[in-house]
Amino acid sequence: MRRRSVKVRLTIWYTALMVLMAALVLAFVAMISSSVASQSSRTYLSQVVRGNLDQVSLVDGSLQLGEEFTFLQDGVYTVVYSQSGALLAGQLPQPFSTVSEPFVNGLTRPVDTDQGEYYVLDFWVPSGWESGVWVRGLMEVSEGNRTLYSLLLAAAIAMPGFILLAALGGYWLVRRAFRPLDAINATASAINEGRDLSARIGAMPGHGEFTQLAGNFDRMLERLERAFEAEKQFTADASHELRTPVTVILSACEYAEKYGETPEERQETLQTIHRQGRKMADLISQLLQMTRMDQGTEAAQLERTDLTDLVRGLCEEQGELGRRLIPDLQEGVTAQANRPLLSRLLQNLIDNAEKYGAPGGRIWVTLRRETGEIRLTVRDEGPGIPPDQQEKIWQRFYQVDPSRGGDRGAGLGLSIVQQIARVHGGTMTLESVPGRGSAFTLHLPEGGASLPGKNI
Ligand code: ADP
Repeated sequence: MRRRSVKVRLTIWYTALMVLMAALVLAFVAMISSSVASQSSRTYLSQVVRGNLDQVSLVDGSLQLGEEFTFLQDGVYTVVYSQSGALLAGQLPQPFSTVSEPFVNGLTRPVDTDQGEYYVLDFWVPSGWESGVWVRGLMEVSEGNRTLYSLLLAAAIAMPGFILLAALGGYWLVRRAFRPLDAINATASAINEGRDLSARIGAMPGHGEFTQLAGNFDRMLERLERAFEAEKQFTADASHELRTPVTVILSACEYAEKYGETPEERQETLQTIHRQGRKMADLISQLLQMTRMDQGTEAAQLERTDLTDLVRGLCEEQGELGRRLIPDLQEGVTAQANRPLLSRLLQNLIDNAEKYGAPGGRIWVTLRRETGEIRLTVRDEGPGIPPDQQEKIWQRFYQVDPSRGGDRGAGLGLSIVQQIARVHGGTMTLESVPGRGSAFTLHLPEGGASLPGKNI
């Protein structure tokens, strides 16, 4: 069976509910009003008949009716019978010509005739000890309900019209409200079928929840598309970077097989393979580190760390390079930090200062606690970075001068540095004047970074 759309189901549901409610209300109103109407009919019958009682008297055995006696007043018939049941005055309604109803003093009761139901009320009017007359009032039951019936009829006729109007109006509103949802559906299908993340729902009129959802959906697609593109770029760059050393290794092997006759030549080939292998190993470990930080699969425990101690230790481990390092460290600077990650950040900055700074030039490492923050700066006296490149160097795989040979990296060092800074709730800044050098600074909040145990 074909499933109906939510719009149709919704419309059917509230229309059925409205029909049920209308029926219940009508039945309830009919019940209440019929009981009220029957009560007021009985009261009216009793009022008219009692009013007539005052006008009835027996003078010397003969019946005398006063001037105000009414035989028929607003549907109420009043008739007078003798003690033996003979009609003395008044005219019976037509159906009663064949019905004989026994007299009951003072009791209003319904009596069935072949032309409908009547209320009947009798009063015994005595005259002396033994004689008297019966005064009987009669009123058709439907008389009192007529207005009610016409009211109910009008309601019953109008109700389906109202319900139809409500159902159509509701369906129209629901359809309008659901329009963004249809658009979302169509866009999602287009993306699914075409595998094209660039499809968008576009602007929708109105401010309803679904319109907001459509807007959010578009923004989400925007982000997804960017992330997807970045991922694609990342994969392409990573494979390109890995392919280069692999190609060098393969051609080195081929060369050695063909021409590597002397031990010196073989030694040279092995060194090339070793260098390229180390490059690949470095790259793979960098990629792994970034992926872990991206995905948050590795929990970075931040704990109170003596930064002065950490930076001094790292500077002392630099071997040959240590002679060019000039540490300027404030004592007792502590922060919430992860030792291995922060060491990696500093090492990357020192490596860059060595690789891209002036050959044999000095490298300053400064640690300071200043107004509300802690600053760790690595400064060199190299050629600096052109202003138009200063934003880009933080991007993955970006290199200012990729053609430069030597022991250059793959352009991942600074993006790892930035990721580590973020994990610590800090930021990185760069001050660089071409020809005079560059200073990379880590800014950490003094009160400690985000909560310990934050995922990276
Ligand atoms: P890599 O791993 O190739 O060193 P990085 O992300 O560490 O990549 O650096 C990106 C680019 O920024 C480098 O290619 C280099 O051109 C430039 N760079 C980084 N540090 C310095 C520096 N101290 N002085 C001049 N240029 C630098």
